[in-house]
Amino acid sequence: MASKFDTACAYWRTGSNPERGTWRLDALTVRERQVLLLLGTGVGNRELARELGIAERTVKAHVANIVDKTGQQTRTQAAIVAALAHDALCSESACTRHPERVPAGRQVVPSGG
Ligand SMILES: [Zn+2]
Repeated sequence: MASKFDTACAYWRTGSNPERGTWRLDALTVRERQVLLLLGTGVGNRELARELGIAERTVKAHVANIVDKTGQQTRTQAAIVAALAHDALCSESACTRHPERVPAGRQVVPSGG
């Protein structure tokens, strides 16, 4: 069984909170935002390159810039930023991830464990 310490807030413990990365999206170019959106799916550089129709080395350069501009240390952290920022990055109006698409009167509540 996990001790209370084991489940103490990881963001507080490590001082690394990916939410902060979402505050810096304005620093990204249009292309970098496209790369970040796809990065949030967890796919590798090869798949990113294929989706965007650009070279894999170009993807790597974009990812490095994204990690830097969003104040993250790793690609994985940037991917978490992407997942958190999906609403801001995704332009698909039918996307179910957009909170405003939740029918009025219904609230999204965390499912109990
Ligand atoms: Zn979406």
